[in-house]
Amino acid sequence: MTIYLGIIFFIFGAVFGSFLNVVIYRLPRGESIIYPASHCPTCGAKILPGDNIPILSYIILKGRCRNCGAKISPIYIIVESITAVIFASGFLFYGLSFSLLEFIIFCLILIPIAFIDWNTMLIPDSLSIGGTIVGLVFSIFGGKIVQSLMGGIISGGILLIFAVIGKWIFHKEAMGFGDIKMAVMLGVFVGWQEFIILLVIASFLGAIYGLIMEIRGKIEDSKIPFAPFLAISGIITYIIGRYIINFYFGI
Ligand SMILES: [Zn+2]
Repeated sequence: MTIYLGIIFFIFGAVFGSFLNVVIYRLPRGESIIYPASHCPTCGAKILPGDNIPILSYIILKGRCRNCGAKISPIYIIVESITAVIFASGFLFYGLSFSLLEFIIFCLILIPIAFIDWNTMLIPDSLSIGGTIVGLVFSIFGGKIVQSLMGGIISGGILLIFAVIGKWIFHKEAMGFGDIKMAVMLGVFVGWQEFIILLVIASFLGAIYGLIMEIRGKIEDSKIPFAPFLAISGIITYIIGRYIINFYFGI
């Protein structure tokens, strides 16, 4: 039974991932995410329902538009696969529970933030501030509103301090205001102690990425979007942050 439900969650995840692709593409362009229906970005041809099956269509069409043959970004299948895996593994980890719903919603906020920041170096307020509100609503129902409020304020405060110090030392924006708003949202979901772990992991991942880019000589203007690393770390910390704190501090 568990395995069947796991597969169903995987399929649902792929479908939600398909929707997230629309959000990732259209939100920064200020387009409606509901209307019109999906179309090829190159030739504008409407994508037929049969060619709009998450994950599968990309493989069947070999990543090309059926109408004009233009290459379709692999981001589409990547987002659909990530979301599918998150849904299925979240179900296997949390079972059918309130925690599962919160985890999935959290990931549905983080995935578009990560990809939009990656593409545009911007984090839409509708996702960071909207996500903060969603997180607070979950906390009210989960009976942890005080921890969440503290989490949001302290986490945002930590990044604000980093941003101020960074600007003071390097005389340029090391951390954008978007990152600070995202930190508030993360803190609301994970709590402030977990946020410190989250920040350590994200900085570590970002540093590794920066190093690889440096070695490959691909660093331009030393600008690296931070949200993708915060997002990956956010998902990791959401699942194992509490265990790490218990292990090290015995709280
Ligand atoms: Zn086309």
